[in-house]
Amino acid sequence: MGFSTKAIHEGNEPDPTTGAVTVPIYQTSTYAQEGLGKHKGFEYARTQNPTRLALERNIAALEGAKFGYAFASGMAAIDATLRLVHAGDHVIVSDNTYGGTFRLFTRILSNYGIEFSFVDTSDAGNVEAAIKENTRMVFLETPTNPVMIISDLQAVSDVAHARGARVVCDNTFMSPYLQRPMEFGVDIVVHSTTKYLNGHSDGVGGVAVLSDEKDAEWLAFVQNSAGAILSPFDSWLVLRGTKTLAVRMEQHDKSGRAVAAFLEEHPKVEKIYYPGSLSHRQHDLAKRQQKGFGGMVAFDVGTLERARIVLETVRLCTLAESLGGVETLISHPATMTHASVLAETRQRIGITDGLVRVSVGLEDTEDIIADLDQALDGI
Ligand SMILES: *Cc1c(COP(=O)(O)O)cnc(C)c1O
Repeated sequence: MGFSTKAIHEGNEPDPTTGAVTVPIYQTSTYAQEGLGKHKGFEYARTQNPTRLALERNIAALEGAKFGYAFASGMAAIDATLRLVHAGDHVIVSDNTYGGTFRLFTRILSNYGIEFSFVDTSDAGNVEAAIKENTRMVFLETPTNPVMIISDLQAVSDVAHARGARVVCDNTFMSPYLQRPMEFGVDIVVHSTTKYLNGHSDGVGGVAVLSDEKDAEWLAFVQNSAGAILSPFDSWLVLRGTKTLAVRMEQHDKSGRAVAAFLEEHPKVEKIYYPGSLSHRQHDLAKRQQKGFGGMVAFDVGTLERARIVLETVRLCTLAESLGGVETLISHPATMTHASVLAETRQRIGITDGLVRVSVGLEDTEDIIADLDQALDGI
């Protein structure tokens, strides 16, 4: 079965009692039982909900995983996944990871005896060098936000597995349509469904998918015990979103290429960060492990003043955090998403005051480019 067929049908069987083609929103907290210990597999809605179950089966199928668990946010999915390691264990993390992930690991989980090393995972050799006796997990994000650093999923998986560590990949930026990390050996894939999977900027959610039975059992136990579950309505929204994931990602990718090409040629743009560009140092690796380059493009106009002009004179693009929705969003990483990152770290990885990030939406490509063009004219 092809990707779109799976996206539309996996988990989405017509409702057995009414024939409804769309999985209903099972807005219930509990389920009537026929007798003591006799029920239809559903007892209490923190533990099981049919709408959430449909979504979990759907995303697991899209990533090529056996099991899926949906959570109240991307961060809740990542937090639950980290419950696979224990006090005394060591975790290696991509050093340019999502700010919320960095905050969760360094400010909260490190208080519970879990040790984190942040390394440049774009070189698998750095991962190998950082592995210790107690390393139990390698947590990757690729491409990273907003400077699009790529990690070699196969090479890192090989290095980690040789030393008995699991590999987790945050696949939020690519979606399973453009990148399926498990095909390169990754053990667990996490997503903020808030972004491309939902795709319409109208819900917050997260998911973790995997195939190892023992780890899956533990994740299900954590999901039920800690209870950070995705609601039936939000599950339904994401389930609706994934049905059109393939066509949406095709268009995000197409417009992303056009916007990047326009920016790369523009005299006011000093540098672009886009894996589809031949100037990207990991362009070949991106081509090898991704089906496309997605809709995220970052560019540097040199100074805060210039960035401010662009950000404040766009008319179609919306100044906002987040990404992956139908509308084009524009943001300033240094003062918005990455404000909590140390200034010297920001400088080292290229998050300068002149950097602008665009999440290319699904408006007509010419309109997006015309808007950026008139905004850049103001410089
Ligand atoms: C947004 C995001 C998250 C966090 O997801 P929430 O749904 O906001 O909790 C994690 N990783 C990446 C790459 C993200 O973009």
